[in-house]
Amino acid sequence: MTRAFITGIGGQDGSYLAEQLLSAGAEVHALAHPDDRAPVARGVELHPGDLTDIAQTRHLLLDLAPDEVYNLAGVSSVARSWSEPDLTGQVNGLAAVALLESAWQVQEASGRAVRFVQASSAEIFGEPTSSPQDEATLVKPINPYGVSKAYAHLAVEVYRRRKLHAVSAILYNHESPRRPTQFVTRKITATVAAIAHGEADTLALGNLDARRDWGWAPDYVDALVRAARADDARDYVIATGVAHSVREFVEAAFARAGLEDWESHVVIDPAFVRPVDATELVGDSSRARKFLGWAPSVGFEELVGRMVDRDLELVGDQSSSRPSR
Ligand code: GDP
Repeated sequence: MTRAFITGIGGQDGSYLAEQLLSAGAEVHALAHPDDRAPVARGVELHPGDLTDIAQTRHLLLDLAPDEVYNLAGVSSVARSWSEPDLTGQVNGLAAVALLESAWQVQEASGRAVRFVQASSAEIFGEPTSSPQDEATLVKPINPYGVSKAYAHLAVEVYRRRKLHAVSAILYNHESPRRPTQFVTRKITATVAAIAHGEADTLALGNLDARRDWGWAPDYVDALVRAARADDARDYVIATGVAHSVREFVEAAFARAGLEDWESHVVIDPAFVRPVDATELVGDSSRARKFLGWAPSVGFEELVGRMVDRDLELVGDQSSSRPSR
């Protein structure tokens, strides 16, 4: 039986990954941060701890001796990284390298191969001059989040040279109804649902012209497992290859909820405009398609539809559970 260890279990990706691994019969262990509030799938063995407590995490990993390590923990939003750049570096950068070292030590001690998957990010490319980006694109981040992810990304290569099956999955934006509302997609779908139910009137946003390559989170988690289990350790871009603007996402979300005239509800608030922001990120996942047999299963319209439908249900449930006056 495969024994897997996940960091970041409280996040969107951690929750989908745990479900996928459990349903395939793996034994799943996870580091549980005290701030984690999200429900965790039944069957996951939780180990309280903080990734930045390097000694404790190393001890835990050497004790568990997992076959697969998935590092999904981190400060996950670019927006937050601007207000907490040092914490972002500690968690996403230094702690990731410490985890790589721990995985390598497990392999050395046990004599069994350990497979390590790092959730890397399109943000390592910053404002790329070529589009779409692939695994050979220059790593040149432009925000604290990208810098921290680049540090861990480059360390993966270092440990691969030390014969660890270490893989960076360069994940483009991936969304779902489990996405927190600090990300623009879920912010839009949750607010649109509230507007549709008459519980809100405006949606305040930043840059509507930013273009992102948005995919379906469970597809991306599936790519992580495929990368862990492939014969060779390589880095992979995981993306749909199609970019849409924030404006297009807004239009599609209002349309799905049956609301006309989205422009009358949207206001631009400078508080949500970033100091610097990549105008377009779009990935070429040819390598993953070729070597992992991976392909995205959900397109843009379907993604927006699933998120809006779920938020309409959630707002509907809340309204119906409220006492009537
Ligand atoms: P990111 O690509 O990982 O930073 O994911 P986000 O969902 O936070 O942001 C995606 C894009 O949406 C970025 O280019 C943001 O500048 C843009 N954006 C526009 N308005 C907003 C907003 O109100 N909130 C957020 N989070 N992003 C916004």
